[in-house]
Amino acid sequence: MSATSVTAAATAARLAGKRAVVTGGARGIGAAIVRRLAADGAEVALLDLLPDPGETVAAEVGGRFVPVDLSDTEATRDAVAAAIDGLGGIDVLVNNAGILRFAPLLDIPVEDWDLMFAINTRPMLVTTQVAARRMIDDGVAGTIINLASMAGKAGGAGQAHYAASKAAVIALTRVTALELGCHGITANCLCPGYVLTEMGADTRTSDDVELWSSYSPLGRLGEPGDVSAVAAFLASADAAYLTGQAFNVTGGMVMH
Ligand code: NAD
Repeated sequence: MSATSVTAAATAARLAGKRAVVTGGARGIGAAIVRRLAADGAEVALLDLLPDPGETVAAEVGGRFVPVDLSDTEATRDAVAAAIDGLGGIDVLVNNAGILRFAPLLDIPVEDWDLMFAINTRPMLVTTQVAARRMIDDGVAGTIINLASMAGKAGGAGQAHYAASKAAVIALTRVTALELGCHGITANCLCPGYVLTEMGADTRTSDDVELWSSYSPLGRLGEPGDVSAVAAFLASADAAYLTGQAFNVTGGMVMH
């Protein structure tokens, strides 16, 4: 049994009664978060562009899949509202969907800059507006978890547009914490390091894996379960006094 599944067994039901919406939940870190929140007792709805893995993950956890392209603001508003209505309310919003592109700073097309913000950052504002209004109306002291990145803190060569969009996520999260704390709502970021998912897989080489593993004192890259375990903790009552933070989940690659 892996360390992650031992932990999951120990925390089953700590999210009982919680209703969670996860964006980008069809694969990778998002799918791991959907599975972990459900394993800990939450009811989960997921939003994603990809219908096939999205429906499969939803069926696996007895949850609901809502297809949406998050770069479409109106569709995003409708999708998150439908997901919340299906759950009968919302306690946990996980803004996880994102994309990565690589290009040297001097060659980044402005269209790619805009696209990065249109998918990595802008939808978080929209889903947060819809979800937080519902939390406030229902008197729910909910929590919002936004996926940033170590690139949002430390930068990353070839990732100016990605890193900038993730730095904006950290800033958005802090303002969310500041403005919504009076309603009992908390907001935090997760800043993963290098996690083995489809993201970046098309250009990943074994040399990359070796090099990046060496940057971690633990000597390995992250797994989706490393991130979902922290998300589940942040969704739990044990994290009630944490807000406005950007937690590194980097295996020590970044320590600030
Ligand atoms: P992934 O590519 O495996 O999964 C991303 C998910 O987001 C996919 O299911 C995809 O369909 C969905 N998505 C993308 N664009 C969408 C859109 N327009 N509308 C709806 N859904 C859309 O990536 P991942 O590695 O699981 O990344 C999850 C999050 O973690 C992202 O925000 C990413 O930036 C962040 N992150 C990842 C790493 C890493 O090393 N993998 C590191 C730091 C941060």
